[in-house]
Amino acid sequence: MVKGVFKVNESQGFQQHTEALNNRYLELVEIICKANHPLSIATQDPQMINAVIKSNLLANPNTEIEMLHGVTPLVLKNIKEKGYQTRVYLVYGTQWFLHLCHRIAEYPPNIFQSVSDCLHPVNRKDDYYF
Ligand SMILES: Cc1cc2nc3c(=O)[nH]c(=O)nc-3n(C[C@H](O)[C@H](O)[C@H](O)COP(=O)(O)OP(=O)(O)OC[C@H]3O[C@@H](n4cnc5c(N)ncnc54)[C@H](O)[C@@H]3O)c2cc1C
Repeated sequence: MVKGVFKVNESQGFQQHTEALNNRYLELVEIICKANHPLSIATQDPQMINAVIKSNLLANPNTEIEMLHGVTPLVLKNIKEKGYQTRVYLVYGTQWFLHLCHRIAEYPPNIFQSVSDCLHPVNRKDDYYF
């Protein structure tokens, strides 16, 4: 389950970064979880992650949190250490450059994060804890 990365018209779907989208995302997550269908909750959004942890949906062994490799890795580590199921989405192969451009376009502050990581790889303080 992802919030789509591409912009859509209002007639096609919810607009990005809106409460309506977040509410619908959580409603669908809950429906799928309660149906006991295998579900990967793929998001970088701390608000969504907090909400699914608080609602106890991650207690379902068929449900996991999935995050993109290298994006706030300490958040995922922290979730895993709490005993929840996690997964890392790792891209490999020759087509990596377009993927990298997409990731920067969807969250431009990561350019600064990558420079900071190169200079001080062990001093990451950006991640949130749950
Ligand atoms: C494993 C995985 C696979 C995906 N596959 C697809 C796909 O195939 N097709 C598709 O359309 N979308 C896909 N997505 C979704 C896309 O990459 C974005 O995650 C999504 O469009 C933006 O929603 P969001 O939940 O990250 O949060 P948003 O609503 O964009 O942002 C909310 C908050 O989350 C945090 N945040 C968001 N992005 C980042 C970031 N990169 N770094 C740090 N903090 C961040 C910020 O605090 C931000 O304020 C995938 C996501 C994941 C995790």
